[in-house]
Amino acid sequence: MNEETREKLAEISRMLEERVKDFRTSEMWLKHLEMQARLPHYSFNNCILIELQTQGKATMCQSFTGWKAMGGSVKKSEKGLKIICPAPRKVYTYETKRDENGNEIRAADGTVEKEKVCHVQQSYKVGYTFDVSQVDITNLPEICTRLDGSVEGAEDLIGILQEISPVPIAFDHINGTANGYFSPSDLRIVVDEDLSPNHKIHTCLHEMAHATLNLSGEDNGASRELKETEAESIAFVTMKHLLGDKMTAEDIGQYSFGYINNWASSDDLTEMKTAMATIQWTSAALIDKIEAVYRDREKLADKESEEAVEAQVIVQHKGKHM
Ligand SMILES: [Zn+2]
Repeated sequence: MNEETREKLAEISRMLEERVKDFRTSEMWLKHLEMQARLPHYSFNNCILIELQTQGKATMCQSFTGWKAMGGSVKKSEKGLKIICPAPRKVYTYETKRDENGNEIRAADGTVEKEKVCHVQQSYKVGYTFDVSQVDITNLPEICTRLDGSVEGAEDLIGILQEISPVPIAFDHINGTANGYFSPSDLRIVVDEDLSPNHKIHTCLHEMAHATLNLSGEDNGASRELKETEAESIAFVTMKHLLGDKMTAEDIGQYSFGYINNWASSDDLTEMKTAMATIQWTSAALIDKIEAVYRDREKLADKESEEAVEAQVIVQHKGKHM
């Protein structure tokens, strides 16, 4: 890594560190999650960097070539938004050749044979991305808003969640105040059947987040506060991504981030940063799975309507001969 790259990365790291401290209140935490919901595939570090450079106004980001591939072009005067990109480096070394048993291989003259070995070193560099506001593009792909809050769309999504959940989801009457629960021993989720459709989605996502983190061992040794903050944040990012601006104040009111002030108040931000990374990858994976089902259904619907048109043509054709 050269001196300039090192210096740029160090500066960015200082910016990030400063910013993460702000997220220790539930209000700022929620703001960060809203940004992450718009850019689910950007790491939490990059999400914060984009937020800082656009005053939180970015809605859709792509690289220079990414926009080009979509038929857009970055406006001349626009400067890229700095992000951190992985830059794996290949390093070659000459090492002693060994057989399966680990013994040195020698040439006929007795000298030890050497071979060229490639090692990949993880390294980072400063890269650039551009918000849609910096780009000339005529056919902007619709920013996916799958739900309009209507009962019909919500029921549909509930079915999809049942389909992609890591453990089965059952709807049942729950006594007491819980809206739902994930049982690690029975490996199943139960959600209160009396909830409104939107609240069911929220509860399904919250319990699916618990299940995902439990199955991956990610929540081993985590405090209750941390587990709840993660599950609630994942549910929020996923639902906000699907609902977009149609998410109502009431919807947001169903989420609780009251725990954040409790566990994130210490000066050690390591746990908080780890939690944010977990929230980012878990919600991105959920969003990908949900959108894949929507895409498959759209493809199927297209195929069916094409077939219907073809069938119609055949019928008309036959009619002519009669
Ligand atoms: Zn929970």
